Amino acid sequence: MMNKKGLLIVVSAPSGCGKDTVISKVLEKLGNEASLSISMTTRAMRPGEAEGVNYYYVSVDQFKKHIENGDMLEYASYGSNFYGTPIKPVKDMLEQGKTVFLIIEVEGGGNVKKIFPEAKKIFIVPPSMEELENRLRGRGTDSEEAIVKRMEIAKTELERAIEYDYVVENDVLDEAVSDVMSIIRAGQLEIKYMQNKIREVMTNA
Ligand code: 5GP
Repeated sequence: MMNKKGLLIVVSAPSGCGKDTVISKVLEKLGNEASLSISMTTRAMRPGEAEGVNYYYVSVDQFKKHIENGDMLEYASYGSNFYGTPIKPVKDMLEQGKTVFLIIEVEGGGNVKKIFPEAKKIFIVPPSMEELENRLRGRGTDSEEAIVKRMEIAKTELERAIEYDYVVENDVLDEAVSDVMSIIRAGQLEIKYMQNKIREVMTNA
């Protein structure tokens, strides 16, 4: 059996579910053990964002070149922009034994297991559609029209939750964080990641 290294975790959620907050807390807890994959996008940089921190910002032509060159683990168009995961850093981080997080939308999320069948997919849901709508309104960043559109997208995304391995409800933040931590721990303890441990125990026997 191949000696597996790090764990690959795909996280998706309708916008407004707080997935970034949940995962940043998880990353804080895992420290050096984990890394977040930085995606490439053709969308414009938002205020407060930085190159190589939130995304790598590229032109549509550059993005297409990367697809042609086979640089992408997955990609999708979302809104009117492209988003994709560069494969090299993910492979390197897994090789180092790290738990790697991809926070991506459902379309691209559907393609990850074609390349990494052992990836674990987590879908984060809001407590209810009503609560999701309240949160979107509470952010105060979207127009009424944009909120209606986001709610429609959220419904189509929720329909694809069935493609995921786990569902975590984000009602109380700390509980969602601890649920994700349990999934990670269970994943790390799977036999395919524990071959070295078994060998070590046997040598010392
Ligand atoms: P935003 O423009 O708000 O940063 O992201 C829009 C959506 O694109 C979010 O659902 C986000 O998770 C998703 N996304 C970000 N990076 C990637 C990626 O590399 N691949 C895919 N498929 N989706 C991504």
